Amino acid sequence: MNVTIQLPDGSTKVYDEPVSPYRVAQDISPRLAKAAVAAEVDGQPRDLAALLGEGTHRLRLLTDRDAGALEVLRHTASHVLAQAMVRLYGPKVQYTIGPALMDDFQYGFYYDFDLPNSLSQEDLSKVEQEMQRIISEKLPIERLEVSLDEARRRMADIGQHYKAEMIDDLAKGQPPPATISLYRQGEFLDMCRGPHLADTGRLKAFKLITTAGAYWRGDEHNKMLTRVYGTAFFEPKQLEQHLARIEEARKRDHRVLGRQLGLFLVSDAVGPGLPLWMPNGAILRMQLENWLRAELLKRGYQPVYTPHIGKLDLYRTSGHYPYYKDSQFPPIMLSQEEGYLLKPMNCPHHIQIYKAGQHSYRELPIRLSEFGAVYRFEQSGELNGLIRVRGFTQDDAHIFCTSQQLEAEIESCVDLTKLVLDTLGLTDYRVRLGLRDATVDKYIGKSENWDLAEENIRHVVQRLGMDYTDARGEAAFYGPKIDFLVKDCLGREWQLGTIQVDYNLPERFELEYIGPDNAPHRPVMIHRAPLGSPERFIGILIEHFAGAFPLWLSPVQVAVLSVSEKSNDYAAQVADRLRQAGLRVELDDSSQKIGAKIRQATLQKTPYMAVIGAREAQAGGVAVRHRTAGDLGARSLEPFVSALRDEVESKGKTNLLSPGSASGTI
Ligand SMILES: [Zn+2]
Ligand SMILES: [Zn+2]
Repeated sequence: MNVTIQLPDGSTKVYDEPVSPYRVAQDISPRLAKAAVAAEVDGQPRDLAALLGEGTHRLRLLTDRDAGALEVLRHTASHVLAQAMVRLYGPKVQYTIGPALMDDFQYGFYYDFDLPNSLSQEDLSKVEQEMQRIISEKLPIERLEVSLDEARRRMADIGQHYKAEMIDDLAKGQPPPATISLYRQGEFLDMCRGPHLADTGRLKAFKLITTAGAYWRGDEHNKMLTRVYGTAFFEPKQLEQHLARIEEARKRDHRVLGRQLGLFLVSDAVGPGLPLWMPNGAILRMQLENWLRAELLKRGYQPVYTPHIGKLDLYRTSGHYPYYKDSQFPPIMLSQEEGYLLKPMNCPHHIQIYKAGQHSYRELPIRLSEFGAVYRFEQSGELNGLIRVRGFTQDDAHIFCTSQQLEAEIESCVDLTKLVLDTLGLTDYRVRLGLRDATVDKYIGKSENWDLAEENIRHVVQRLGMDYTDARGEAAFYGPKIDFLVKDCLGREWQLGTIQVDYNLPERFELEYIGPDNAPHRPVMIHRAPLGSPERFIGILIEHFAGAFPLWLSPVQVAVLSVSEKSNDYAAQVADRLRQAGLRVELDDSSQKIGAKIRQATLQKTPYMAVIGAREAQAGGVAVRHRTAGDLGARSLEPFVSALRDEVESKGKTNLLSPGSASGTI
């Protein structure tokens, strides 16, 4: 027998009998064997104990530094969880599926159970203790390959009917698998593809986080199961840091802060996913939108307004209907023939504005912009405060240009998106090219148009020297796009700004311009939204800043607090002066103690407080406090006013705090 193992460094090892990755690791060095967690054989994840037979195998040993290894660790943790559940709650516990989660911010794995009992949050620590016991038993995790029939019988014998059902499904495959892999650790048996850690003792740092309901196979007609979520890491320290991040995210939850700071409201009476902007939130949003509007005017955009609904036929032409009807509110039918749709996108309306007249090449590019309201029927389980909603706004624009102008226009859209993100301190981002997946037929238009559009966006990001990755299948249905994926201060990644190139809608709507040759030509369209949507963007900003917005966005910028009734008159004068200077001010001249007033303004995350006592009234100054930096000392009124104005105008590039403590504003 000849078993040849190719290692990543190009070297090979030859054996005359089947060999496991673990043994190869030992032959390389005992240290590597100790560090190895799992293996990758010919690109596929495998157990360290897997036997590699006759032939040549490419082998990579995975240690705790490989992402693939973490997945094996977390998946093994889910088996240990299932074993602990059976030990605690008896053989009536049915375990269904238990995958590792690698892209979730909170959770690293889950297992779904059909339980004879209910499981509370308090029970989880008991389950953790049992898991710890299983870990200390260092049970070897063995793989058994058996026939379908035997696998079915063995799982049914131990009362695991969901597993038996899964095996029945596998048996219906064309062709059905020759064998099924079962895994055993101590008394616990599970059906699983693997791989897993070599023994339960290698699991070091794990935590169960919460329970939730989940339908069997994700289908609401099926039984509701109990999902237990947890996470696991190689090092206890990594786990600790992760749990601290989850806790921090919980404190920053924009739905909680939104209520506390009077920013927005989702009212049952109005409907789920339809947020209402409260006065403080509306001010914040207005600042953001006004700033963007001014930027757009500088950049040659023309504002337009369009209605919230349009005829069904309009969306038949655009391709939104009936193709995307599942993600939209049902149409409003006036008669059998005549129907209207809440607009899912603004493009068809803007296209009509373009079409209202004839255009010469000299007028292009034409850039029509609108903060346009759109409606999507998101599943109720997906709704989340301002971040996932059914009615929202897009900071939308459509650029109609010639193909010669296209790349310069894309570039200027990239520039605007970067300006937005940089100004808000969201500087940790990457770029993803959303391309079509040629195997799926959800896209409209000709293949050569797609090729061209994909080439255009790639050119631009390459020329700008931006780091980017390709994402097949992430395109809009009419064209490819550049998406900005932004990391917030907790390291969570959000898709914000988007720039999309479209040769297809101009064709469907027969758009034209007259070229220098006096003949009609087809323009290209860019759809772009630097924020994406103000709702979602602000939802993310609330969490990023934990509600402590930079001065220029803060609903209340200065709280003027009088120390006692005697200083009320002067406090009112100070408030007036600040208002005259264009600042948003709240005057607290109530009879409360000054300490309580300061606490209140700090809780509301008001950036600055002007404390007015007898001394300040006499000297004509203010005692300045900052929400996080605390006491900033006494200032004369006018320099204080102009420092605040500078901070607003520079969007925080200059501020009252010393340079070293500027980061304290977040
Ligand atoms: Zn498994
Ligand atoms: Zn559009």
